[in-house]
Amino acid sequence: MTVKLFYENAYLKETKAKIERVEIKDKRVKLLLDRTIFYPEGGGQPSDRGIILGDGFKVEIDRVSGKDEIWHEGRLKGREPQAGERVELILNWEWRYENMKQHTGQHVLSAVLQDLYSSGTTGFQIFENYSKIEINFDGELTWEHILKAEVEANRIVAEDLPVVIETYEELPAEVVSSLRKPLSEKVKPPVRIVSIPGVDVIACGGTHVRSTREIGPIKVLNFYRKIKNIWRIEFACGNRALKYMNSILEDYWKSLDEMPNKNRPLLERVRELREELKRLEEEKAELRREMWRWKAEALMDRAEEVGGIKVISIVEDADMKDAQAFVINLVDKNPNSIALVAGRRYLIFAKNKNVKGISMNALLRKVLRETGGGGGGSEVLARGGGFKIEPERVLELAKKELKELLQV
Ligand SMILES: [Zn+2]
Repeated sequence: MTVKLFYENAYLKETKAKIERVEIKDKRVKLLLDRTIFYPEGGGQPSDRGIILGDGFKVEIDRVSGKDEIWHEGRLKGREPQAGERVELILNWEWRYENMKQHTGQHVLSAVLQDLYSSGTTGFQIFENYSKIEINFDGELTWEHILKAEVEANRIVAEDLPVVIETYEELPAEVVSSLRKPLSEKVKPPVRIVSIPGVDVIACGGTHVRSTREIGPIKVLNFYRKIKNIWRIEFACGNRALKYMNSILEDYWKSLDEMPNKNRPLLERVRELREELKRLEEEKAELRREMWRWKAEALMDRAEEVGGIKVISIVEDADMKDAQAFVINLVDKNPNSIALVAGRRYLIFAKNKNVKGISMNALLRKVLRETGGGGGGSEVLARGGGFKIEPERVLELAKKELKELLQV
């Protein structure tokens, strides 16, 4: 059983302890201690970080886990630690203190949401840059609802109310009746009750700040419906709120600065650009149709006659998708035509569906047998790639094979 000093005093940043057990795998070490200031992951709060120093070794702790026995895990530098040795524990206080702010901020935000909208909190998780709660909310949650809750939560922060922690073997009836959320059956005594007078009473096993003022700003960052009446709210408190808002604002202003028109709001600029893009796409499609018409005419003029079929063969620079669209259009509009197209990395053979006596797939297979590569297709359209020779040479081969297949 590890003594949990973080429950006696959440502000303890350093202490000494004794190693009870050691597990080592590669350069990772796990230490079981007789007492600790490191909070193990649980209840939505991530595990603490920090260092454990011994005589001739140092462990950079990145994971702490367990309930009764608390294991401290991390990268070992120096010699292997032994059971019975005394060590010094140093918490990464910045990390922990911010987690304490997020956690206490969550109590306030959840209490306000309960109070304003009868929304119970069903889930909570602290991440590196933000935290997340899940609440019940019937209907559509809006930024207006959110702002109202934020204003109230930040008013409570400014009131500098104490965060009181009491531990009970048995919960008195008046405490049970004032709980924001009924006690889970999984909770075994002693039960820790965290209260903010006039605001919230809840059972919780996390670490918290002493007064609401320490939480700093509480800011909702995003919210969305998870399923039915369950909504997810992402928020941040303290320095993490400032950091997150800074990154959002930096992104906002830099994005606006990239716009041809740099005036707010950004949303209008984005819509303008989308309109412009749509117009350009239409114009491009129109120009392409025009170009194809001219190109098709020119190609048909110099088509070769093979056994009464007009054969067009071209080396194409366009990408395969565009070339295919053009070729299909060309053979569809010209009865009795076959088009053989070779790009740097692809082959497209297409014919008008009325051309009888030859399959594009069969032709492609014959050609690929000589050039290498792979591909396939149908009677009217076949595509291949992976050949190792020049496209001009592939086309010559294709024409030769076509003549053989048509027996001319
Ligand atoms: Zn808590």
